[in-house]
Formats: sequence, C-alpha cells, structure tokens
Amino acid sequence: MALIVQKFGGSSVGSVERIQAVAQRVYKTVKAGNSLVVVVSAMGKTTDGLVKLASEISHNPNRREMDMLLSTGEQVTIALLSMALQELGQPAISMTGAQVGIVTEAEHTRARILHIETDRLLRHIHQGKVVVVAGFQGISSTGDLEITTLGRGGSDTSAVAIAAAIEADFCEIYTDVPGILTTDPRLVPEAQLMDAITCNEMLELASLGAKVLHPRSVEIARNYGVPLVVRSSWTEDPGTWVTSLKPQERSLVNLEIARSVDAVEFDTNQAKVALLRVPDKPGVAAKLFGEISRQNVDVDLIIQSIHEGNSNDIAFTVTTPILKRAEAVAAAIAPALRNPSNPKSDEAEVMIEQDIAKVSISGAGMIGRPGVAAKMFATLAEAGVNIQMISTSEVKVSCVVDATDCDRAVAALSNAFEIAVEEQHSPLSTPHSVLPTQHSHPVCGVALDMNQVRLGIRQVPDKAGMAAKLFGILAKHNISVDMIIQSQRCRIIDGVPKRDIAFTVPRMDGETAQKLLTQVAAELGWGEVVLDNAIAKVSIVGAGMVGQPGVAAKMFEALAQHHINIQMIATSEIKISCVVAQEQGVKALQVIHAAFDLAGSEKFVVPA
Ligand code: ADP
Ligand code: ASP
Ligand code: MG
Repeated sequence: MALIVQKFGGSSVGSVERIQAVAQRVYKTVKAGNSLVVVVSAMGKTTDGLVKLASEISHNPNRREMDMLLSTGEQVTIALLSMALQELGQPAISMTGAQVGIVTEAEHTRARILHIETDRLLRHIHQGKVVVVAGFQGISSTGDLEITTLGRGGSDTSAVAIAAAIEADFCEIYTDVPGILTTDPRLVPEAQLMDAITCNEMLELASLGAKVLHPRSVEIARNYGVPLVVRSSWTEDPGTWVTSLKPQERSLVNLEIARSVDAVEFDTNQAKVALLRVPDKPGVAAKLFGEISRQNVDVDLIIQSIHEGNSNDIAFTVTTPILKRAEAVAAAIAPALRNPSNPKSDEAEVMIEQDIAKVSISGAGMIGRPGVAAKMFATLAEAGVNIQMISTSEVKVSCVVDATDCDRAVAALSNAFEIAVEEQHSPLSTPHSVLPTQHSHPVCGVALDMNQVRLGIRQVPDKAGMAAKLFGILAKHNISVDMIIQSQRCRIIDGVPKRDIAFTVPRMDGETAQKLLTQVAAELGWGEVVLDNAIAKVSIVGAGMVGQPGVAAKMFEALAQHHINIQMIATSEIKISCVVAQEQGVKALQVIHAAFDLAGSEKFVVPA
C-alpha cells in the first residue's frame, strides 16, 4: 500500500510505556499493509539534560563536542523502539544518521542536509523491516566523517527530508498536541485545531515561534511537495495537513542548500506615507491604522521604528492611486498625536514619498540562512541603490527603493540569484504563494517568540551599502536577522544624513552580534550599538490578510486596550509582528488571539 515516514517527538517516546505504545501504532500501520520508516527524537527532555550537563562544564562548549553529546539522545530511542517492535514480532532495525547516510554540511550544531542515501533504507524496507532512524543528526561529507546535528527541534527536518528522498507517499509528525493549533495551547488553552494550513503560513508561524514544526521541515515539504500531517501520538484523530502546491522538479542533491531564491518581484505602483515624531505610548498605532481601515485604505508594508527620546516614526506603503486618501487620513490624525510630554513640540509630521518601488526576492530557501538577505543588500549596494525600507519574512525579503533605481535593482538581483526573466514578476499577478487555504479568518495563527533580542545602531550614514555591510558581518557569523527597521527621520550630523537601524536576532546571538558590530562601528561612522534583552515578539500570520486593511488595526487595538506599548512593528504580506516588553509577551499573545476570535469551545490540556 503506502510508503510512509512517521516521526515521534520527545514526549511521545518519553518512557518505556510510551515507546511500547509507539511500537503498537507502528505495528498496526505495517499490518495494514504499509511500509514504514520511523524517525524518533531523544526521550522526553533528554536533549535539554545533555545541554545542561555541557553548560556545567563550559560556558561556550565546543560545537563539535556538543554534536557528539546531543546525538547520543536519539541513539537510545532508536534501539529501544526497535527492540519494542521486535518484541511484537515485527522485524525492525535501528540506524543512526551516519548509518543511513544522512549527509550534511560540516557546520556543527546547525548543519543542513545535502543528500540522503536511500539504498540501505530501501533494502531493509524491501526485506519487510521497519527502519528506525535517529532524527536530528547526520554525518558530514567533507574532511573527517563528523557527526553533525541539525539544530534544536531538527528531527522534523530529518523526517521530511527522508520522505522526500525515498519519495514516500506522505510524512506524519506525531506529537503531544492534536495538530497545528491557532496558537500554543500551553499559553492559550482555547486555541483551536486547524484541518489544514498552507506551507507558507506554517513557515511563518514556525519561524515566529510556533515550535510544533521545525521551520526547515516545512521548507523541504514545500520544495519537494511532500504531503505532511501533524497528529497526536495519543489518538487516531486526523490532525492538521500542511498543504503545498505541486512544486517544480528539484534535484535531491544539495537538498537543503539548493536554490535559495525562486523569484525576483517588483512593484512600481507604490508610495510611502510616514508619520514622524508620534508619541511612544500605547494606542498610537491603533488610532492611526483604525482610521486608515475605516477609510478603507489598504496598506502594504508597515514599519515602526524606535527612536531616541520618546517619539517614534511609523511608515507604511500604499498603492499610488490611493495615496491621496492615505495622506489625508494621516494629515487629519497628526494633530491628535502631539507628543504630550512636550506639548510645545511640533506635532507629528506627515511625510510623503511618491516615487518609490518595492523589489523583493522570494523563495523558501532563505530560512536560517542570513547570507541570502545579506547578498541581496550587497547586490543593491554594488548597483548603487540606496535602501529606504526593508521588510523580511521567512520566504521573502523586500526593499523599498527609489523608483528610478527599480530596473537596475531588478536586473542586478536577477543576475546575482540566477533568476530568468520570466521569473521576475510584478505582484499584480498574485504569486501563488499567497493564496490562502480555506480559513474563514484572515488570520490563521498567532505566535510568540521570547527568544529574540533587539539591537539598535544609532546614526548610521544614510547611503547605499550600509545594510550590506551590517548584515554581511552578521551573515558571516551565521547570525539570522529578523525584523529590520530603519528610522524614517534623517538627522544631519556633521553634514552627513544619518538614520537609526533596529533589528532582532536570536537571543543566543545577541551579545556576539553587539560585539561584532561595536568593533566596526567607529570605522563605518556609526554611533552606539545598543542591546535590549527584555523583548518579546508577537506575530499574526494568515494569507487571508492580503487586501484586508482592518487586520493590522485590530491587532494594534487589542494591544492598546490592554495598555501594551508597541516598540517595533514590521509586516510582510502574510504576517504582522510587534515587539513588546518581555513581561507583556504572553498577555499580548492572549489578547491578540482573543481579538481575532480564534478561540474554540474546547480547552486543550497538553499531557505532561
Ligand atoms: P515534539 O517533541 O513532538 O517535537 P515539540 O515540543 O517540539 O514536540 O512541539 C510541540 C509543542 O509545540 C506543543 O506541545 C505546543 O506547546 C507547541 N506549540 C507552539 N505553537 C503551537 C501551535 N500553533 N500548534 C500546536 N502546538 C504548538
Ligand atoms: N532531540 C532534539 C531536540 O530536543 C531534536 C528533536 O527533538 O527534534 O532538539
Ligand atoms: Mg519538535
């Protein structure tokens, strides 16, 4: 019948009893006539325990040795599960990543899969055995044969990659929740189960903090069209399907590092409205975007940047035909946004920029690969194109540039990323990537990421090449950058126009990033590099929010009502993220989830 890859996460194999229950489930599936590869994680919290042991010995443990240590967790589970299957009379064999031939880059603790040998796997399957494979690990092909790991949560990625390699009929991820929910049920027990979600939506949710799937596993499912479902280990319920359109044929060589960018897109029909000097207090964004949505003005990108002192800049883009209306709304609201702490100060000022264009690169291969965005910025810098606004998502990086630079930017990017002319398009022909699934809501999920920190660089000269330098340095050290925001205000300091840039990076990279950037700050004419550890990022995701002006307003309104101040805003086509104070993160998630009516009637209790 079917060839299936099943993956069981840590809690699903957390005890002998649970391993036996998994063996029963696997056995039943085989008896129904299917062939199976089973991928497992380390038992329960084993990996966390190993990380803790290492941290007791070293603050900065050697990454090779970390891989050697962490890969042992999965090795325990494969042996025990194979024994449990054999006890049931089911022939089974355990294999480590190296034994299968899961070949990765030599990048310890975050290796990407290059290819998977299928001979040994298929030989055992043809002999009627269940092959039990250790997730999360591989072996490097260059130099010595080194044991590598794929990054925390990486067993999902092992499973989907194996499914792609052996052309399995589908891949099932078994875990401790009934499927993909509108948010983490540990924080919102009323979260609702979805029947299906698109790969693009799931990619965003996973990268924005929903750890139910490793983002890279979704990327592989999307690239290779692997049918993927997330289900409960404890029930027979159908779970949630992650849907993708049939992709183009792709080679299985360089599986996770093949072409990172699929298309270059541009849109010259854009204009920017910025409100400068709005007060830094709850409710400002809600007021502005509430009015904008009442006037039915559809905004595209929204950014809000931090700024020295206690005022912010908010900027958004609209299509040119509705610029006049957008400008009128902004001008009407500006007087109400006077900075109360300094009533004599001039009120919020509206700034319009008409001759702009948005150029974007898109593709699923950018996830966790900071080098891709850095290459985009470097390419634009080489072409002498100054970047006015940046918006990033897991599948797209967009830059707002001068309209007169658009053609040059598109040509340079197409050349750099080897994109043929027919793959450049203006988004008027809606890329298939944003078509929603059948959700009735514009928003399908809400995610919280407490594992990011914010870096701000003061007084960065406003000229081509700065973003390239900055993100090039971070990419060289494999530091992924998420929200990137430049202030709209330019200050002239010693005759040089300067802006502030703020962005978020993973918590574990925060101090390194600050150190690296501080080292070059003086040489590049930058001011201080500031690190803020106490932030949380809350995001909404949904392909249905395209063309729905009220969605952003509703999110900001929910935060305002609960007096939660928004420190940064960044959007892409299918997501809106806000940075708030760390201690307000969980509350922010809960109020936003409620505001979008995502709660169901049932409460989920995640088993311990
Ligand atoms: P496993 O060990 O099976 O890989 P994980 O702990 O990695 O399990 O992922 C499952 C957990 O993801 C759930 O217990 C839940 O707390 C969390 N989670 C976060 N966001 C979501 C979401 N949107 N839907 C479902 N689970 C989520
Ligand atoms: N055991 C690894 C971890 O805890 C991999 C996984 O569970 O997916 O991160
Ligand atoms: Mg997991």
